[in-house]
Amino acid sequence: VKWTEGRGWHDAELVPYAPLSVDPANMTLHYAQTIFEGLKAYRRPDGSVATFRPEANAERFRASARRLAMPELPTELFLAAVDALITQDRAWVPGTGEQSLYIRPFMFATEVGLGVRPANEYLFLVIASPAGAYFPGGVKPVSVWLSEEYVRAAPGGTGAAKAGGNYAASLVAQAQAAEQGCDQVVWLDAIERRWIEEMGGMNLYFVHGGPDGKRRITTPELSGSLLPGITRASLLRIAADLGHEVAEERISVEDWRNGNADGSLTEVFACGTAAVITPVGSVKSARGNWTVGDGEPGEVTLQLRKALLDIQTGAAPDPHGWMHHVC
Ligand code: PMP
Repeated sequence: VKWTEGRGWHDAELVPYAPLSVDPANMTLHYAQTIFEGLKAYRRPDGSVATFRPEANAERFRASARRLAMPELPTELFLAAVDALITQDRAWVPGTGEQSLYIRPFMFATEVGLGVRPANEYLFLVIASPAGAYFPGGVKPVSVWLSEEYVRAAPGGTGAAKAGGNYAASLVAQAQAAEQGCDQVVWLDAIERRWIEEMGGMNLYFVHGGPDGKRRITTPELSGSLLPGITRASLLRIAADLGHEVAEERISVEDWRNGNADGSLTEVFACGTAAVITPVGSVKSARGNWTVGDGEPGEVTLQLRKALLDIQTGAAPDPHGWMHHVC
């Protein structure tokens, strides 16, 4: 679908996958007006295909567009485009279970020009690719590197938008994590380098155990510089449904480290569309290294992972009406 100043959205079409040609002065190449989304279509036990909360992706896409001074795509157009592609690619949606068709909607400026200003022409596209189960051999904890030298996003910046530039800014820290022998980066806030923000392409959750065996589950509050994940929002509901006490609150590096040292913090996991839920097994940082719990996937982590996946794959009822039937 195209957008042109004065004309709005026009010329929606479904075409075979093919390269695009770009003018060297295409404004996106220079000024990075580019945003995207990621969601999955699952084949249900009855053979039909459904997506998980696509309206939430459409809404976040509009919020990202506003932040990047791009036109907002109406939710109906977003959903119609995603549904049209999935229906066309129906045969590519893998069998039941954790396999899925990963859907990537995105938008960028197509105007040609060298002046720095919002472009007056954009293209919205949707592509898709089959995705296997994230942990085919069983859920494995990841090791994380706490980035103190680099930040992903700052107050007033684009951190809460799903903008391409945020990912470009994260690559050196991800490389640093790999050099440290870690799987993923964990980002801290830009001002104090003290508050936990999120991990690579996932939000974080902390499971606190009480002396009476009661669990408290927390996730960093939306600071304005972390991405408001749809998996994160869904887990707040699911954890409460399962009877856990849940809260969105700030958590510092010291809280994390001390909680693991004194045993009051029993589990940490990350969540996002791609891996659903990934346990965090160990932390490495300039302030020291430590193990999370016993370093193995925790009980609450696995309970929440199963509860969410069962809704997504159709193995369990969908009490919140999150699944969108496509075809
Ligand atoms: N944070 C970042 C930086 C991400 O890229 C993602 C993936 N979209 C997430 C968090 C998790 O968001 P969601 O649950 O919507 O996939």
